[in-house]
Amino acid sequence: MTRRVPLRPAVSALPAYVPGARVPVGAAAFKLSSNENPYPPLASVQAAIIDAASDVNRYPDMFATELTEALAQHLTADLTPQALEDNGAVSAEQVVVGNGSVAVLAHILEAVVDAGDEVVYPWRSFEAYPIVVSVAGGTGVPVPLAPHGRLDLRAMAAAVTDKTRVVLVCTPNNPTGAALTQTELLDFLRTVPTDVLVVVDEAYLEFVRSDDPVDGTAALAAHPNVVVLRTFSKAYGLAGLRVGYAVARARLATGIRSASTPFGVSHLAQRAALASLEAKDELLARVDTIVTERTRFVDGLRDQGWDLPESQANFVWMELGQRTAERAAEAAAAGVIVRPFAGEGIRVSVGEHEATDIFLRVAAGWR
Ligand SMILES: *Cc1c(COP(=O)(O)O)cnc(C)c1O
Repeated sequence: MTRRVPLRPAVSALPAYVPGARVPVGAAAFKLSSNENPYPPLASVQAAIIDAASDVNRYPDMFATELTEALAQHLTADLTPQALEDNGAVSAEQVVVGNGSVAVLAHILEAVVDAGDEVVYPWRSFEAYPIVVSVAGGTGVPVPLAPHGRLDLRAMAAAVTDKTRVVLVCTPNNPTGAALTQTELLDFLRTVPTDVLVVVDEAYLEFVRSDDPVDGTAALAAHPNVVVLRTFSKAYGLAGLRVGYAVARARLATGIRSASTPFGVSHLAQRAALASLEAKDELLARVDTIVTERTRFVDGLRDQGWDLPESQANFVWMELGQRTAERAAEAAAAGVIVRPFAGEGIRVSVGEHEATDIFLRVAAGWR
């Protein structure tokens, strides 16, 4: 018998990343399955993309010079006075962009994880985590969530051993929507050894409305072992162009950059991200609208008697246990595609007003 090329055991054992279901061509349905932004790109962003199209015979700027500089300026402008005093302005060399923040996370792990090193992460959380950890050769240490879909930071701190190289902190947590406070994050960081990297995944930061919101860059100013992970995919509406970034101390950023795919962010994505930063106020006004819609969504469900975690993101989590698959199919039949997590629950993105109306009608029928 011909011998076959073996796959690495870590790869054969990987769970599949399940993308949010797509709306079939020609069907009338709302796609609430991937936490995307419901708005199409702004005219100024579309114009930047069209303009950039004429240069795609060339490789993009490998270091995304203009984009990392613009990000450094925006990040510096958002720093708290204390963070600015502790660690100064954010420099472009501290910013590493990649082909979506998932790719940046993979490169972070490739830069610091050796075979068998442990990576602690909350679970249930972002489904990419176990995949990128295993592919990097690490051993995942999932830590169950606390009640109400919250991260159990005490248990996560207790899971750190001398084999731990990285801890992933997802806030707001995908798919439960629960967010940490900055006080909780800083208390946690004080308990983590300074040679363990803490990745603060802030994919949904712009949707947080709290008295004490997590501020990853302030945490980074106080703790050199922090890496902040952000994306243009959600609040900025560029999911289809794949651009995300990490912010870290310069030495770590250099290591992450070394591990990154060369030319990983296309010219179109770089120009679109720059145009989006220029239109930041307009885009954040759209985020306000989504947050208002989230309140209507959550209040509507609570009025029906559902017990929900406190969502600080652009989606809502409903625990449905064994009924999950059936409920997701019923929602799809009614015109809203949600993301089922078999046997656990559904995650429903907050989008169009009409989609909320349809979903609320469907959910009322489940009571
Ligand atoms: C959507 C999401 C991301 C963003 O992924 P991109 O690769 O930037 O599109 C990162 N982390 C979490 C937790 C997410 O839900």
